[in-house]
Amino acid sequence: MASGTINVSVENIFPLIKKFLYSDHEIFLRELISNATDATLKLKHLCNIGESKSEYGTPFIEVQVDKEAKQLRIIDQGLGMSAEEVEKYINQVAFSGAEEFLEKYKDGAKDSGIIGHFGLGFYSAFMVADKVEIITKSHTDAPAAHWICDGSPTFTLEPHDKTTRGTEIILHISEDEASFLEDAKISELLVKYNKFMPVPIKFGTRTETLEKPEGAKEDDPAPTQEVDNIINNPNPAWTKQPSELEDQDYKNFYRELYPMQFDEPLFNIHLNVDYPFNLTGILYFPKLSPDMGMQKDRIQLYQNQVFVTDNVEGIVPEFLTMLRGVIDSPDIPLNVSRSYLQADGAVKKISSYITKKVADKMNSLFKNNREEFQQKWNDIKVVIEYGMLSEEKFFDKAKNFALYPTTDGAYFTFEELKEKIAAAQTDKDGKLVVLYASHKDEQHSYVQTAKQKGYEVLLLDSPIVPHLIQKLETTYENTTFARVDADHIDNLIKKDDNVISKLSDEQKETLKTNIEAVVPKATYQVQVEAMDSATQPFIITQPEFMRRMKEMQQTGGGGMNMFGSMPETYNLVVNANHSLIETINATEDETQRAAIIKQALDLAKLSQNLLKGEELTQFLQRSFELIK
Ligand code: ADP
Ligand code: MG
Repeated sequence: MASGTINVSVENIFPLIKKFLYSDHEIFLRELISNATDATLKLKHLCNIGESKSEYGTPFIEVQVDKEAKQLRIIDQGLGMSAEEVEKYINQVAFSGAEEFLEKYKDGAKDSGIIGHFGLGFYSAFMVADKVEIITKSHTDAPAAHWICDGSPTFTLEPHDKTTRGTEIILHISEDEASFLEDAKISELLVKYNKFMPVPIKFGTRTETLEKPEGAKEDDPAPTQEVDNIINNPNPAWTKQPSELEDQDYKNFYRELYPMQFDEPLFNIHLNVDYPFNLTGILYFPKLSPDMGMQKDRIQLYQNQVFVTDNVEGIVPEFLTMLRGVIDSPDIPLNVSRSYLQADGAVKKISSYITKKVADKMNSLFKNNREEFQQKWNDIKVVIEYGMLSEEKFFDKAKNFALYPTTDGAYFTFEELKEKIAAAQTDKDGKLVVLYASHKDEQHSYVQTAKQKGYEVLLLDSPIVPHLIQKLETTYENTTFARVDADHIDNLIKKDDNVISKLSDEQKETLKTNIEAVVPKATYQVQVEAMDSATQPFIITQPEFMRRMKEMQQTGGGGMNMFGSMPETYNLVVNANHSLIETINATEDETQRAAIIKQALDLAKLSQNLLKGEELTQFLQRSFELIK
């Protein structure tokens, strides 16, 4: 029997690291299963190149819970270790790695945002076990070895009579980690971390129903049998070539990833690159719920089919964190802080590769199946628009496929739109005016007016639209956006036919004064103008710039701070040529005139959704009086 002291300079390293990694104890299982997987795949390789006499067969990994003995066992049929190898790989390598780790992180690095997933390896077993045993038989002729370590830096190493190839790790689970002796807990961890690992993992058995034998009676129970319960899919879709997969395979894999999600993904993007970094994966565009913040099934990050985290912040550009799916890359450094990660060259390349792939996929969908792309636009636009705002490179590609729907349900690219409106929609400076509504119903009468004049009105209703518009205006020179209620339509868009005013300038002034005597001055700026007589007499508008700045501030970022706190102000545009104005002017009695003006103002407010509360009640009473 050999015994010795593990070569670590820090005495009682175990309690230290136990405490340090308090919240992440569960990763021990992932680490031990990763080792078992490595050992199996290494053997496979040796068999393939003829360097092992062992028969590879169909090896699997087994996890056993023994509640009575308070043991958790991880058993593999991999290449195993000789006693010398245990000395070398466990006593020297595994523990020196741990020591290095502690050296690096002992100064409270936990709070500085280090990802909670370290390649702690075999050593992490001591986070949950008082004592760990290794019984291992090498695939070579070397006899089996039995290593025992009780958590102090001393160990024993003796021969063992195990004859079958592979390694059994026995964890004597400590008193305060008893939850790791619960089947349900282990099951949960296996599903979380090992669902797609490349070697089958057995945990217990399950009952399988068989076909009834020929000639069985109707009410004979179907026979059953106990079979191994394999918890993982060793060949997940992302490890295959895109050419091997049908559309349905991608949908099935989505279901496999998110069993609790009942929606179908809109698009998928298969990632597959091996130079200058290694990355595979499948991303899905889900149907986003309006409250994007609530999204919890996020992109999962794997390394060689081992689950690492579902927080891909810093690895995937932020606008794509709304997507779902899997990314698998061994090239992402994990034991570093998030801020370091973002500065890492390899990670930057990965991030821009993903951005490019998403843009290319959208572009080819747009080109090859525009109909379908248009149908799904509403569900994907937030991601695309957000991407256009946040990533210049994405904008450059997306500007060719980003769509601008009209209130009539037509879809234009920006270039198409420009061409469509070039002749008719320019302002007095010759700038192209893009008219839009943010809400079809709320701005209904304004949209109608614009459409009657033959103008196109876009429907832009995502929350980040004010920012996007700002971006488009700076990108496309000589283009300006105006919401349909930003001003009277004939002021927004230049018209050749000048309407002759029925009122003299003097009469206009008098009218203005009379109206100002009734409407609240602080809120409404009165403006008397000559328009065609069919246009409504009172129109409430809100200048584009002011409103947009306020909105930008509400949605965060970009807007100027001062606008948020400013009170709502509007223009009240009065049509000097409407017959109601004649009535107002002809009404001598001041009270009566005020009543007409008030009623007209309220009607204008109604069409802007501004008439509420007590004012609305009074308006209703007044209106009933009028018609009775
Ligand atoms: P790493 O896996 O990063 O090398 P670990 O601490 O997890 O570090 O393991 C240390 C070494 O111990 C491994 O490299 C391997 O040589 C050996 N080892 C651990 N578990 C097994 C196992 N189940 N079968 C064979 N060798 C193993
Ligand atoms: Mg390992």
